[in-house]
Amino acid sequence: MSALRTLKRPRFVPPGGAWFYCIPGTDIRIESQQGVPDVEQQVVRYYRANKMPVPENLAALIEDFICSQMPAGVCYGSDTRASYEIVPNFFEVNHAMEERFRGKKIAYAEPLDAARRIKVCCGCPKDSLRLCTSCDGLRDTARRFVGGRSTRQDGMTGVCMVYRIPVSALVWIHALEPAEGMPSNCWVSHG
Ligand code: SF4
Repeated sequence: MSALRTLKRPRFVPPGGAWFYCIPGTDIRIESQQGVPDVEQQVVRYYRANKMPVPENLAALIEDFICSQMPAGVCYGSDTRASYEIVPNFFEVNHAMEERFRGKKIAYAEPLDAARRIKVCCGCPKDSLRLCTSCDGLRDTARRFVGGRSTRQDGMTGVCMVYRIPVSALVWIHALEPAEGMPSNCWVSHG
């Protein structure tokens, strides 16, 4: 088994605003605003209440789990995830938008198509809300790149981990090339 990953700054709340763990084999997700030790205590209580063995290295497992869902650079340890499994950081998203839009002639989707597409994105695991798009100006930048276009669901979406740009802009691109990591129900395959 490869070495477990650790947070570079374990006392600082990770991107997303909480420390967290999902109990393996269940859909139970435990969160804390206080830190890994608090998550650990909650997980131990869950295991004991359900008469399950408590792993000896539980705190390390929790940190490794958090790292599995963090943007690049937040943790120590090897990261073998494909890019579409990693939440992009602010600079990557800006770079991806520049590459996609700056100086390019973009054919835009019809409003009804954009509205339909963004509903698909809202239920997609690749729509990551871990990077705040409203508080750092990313969403405003994205909106400018699509000529001020918007949908009612913009505020419910984040950044697409496959295309690395805010969903609120992505859905306005008339035709997108399919990309590795796209879920089968992604609207890109279906128009
Ligand atoms: S992968 Fe497709 S459906 Fe999912 S967020 Fe990206 S564009 Fe939307």
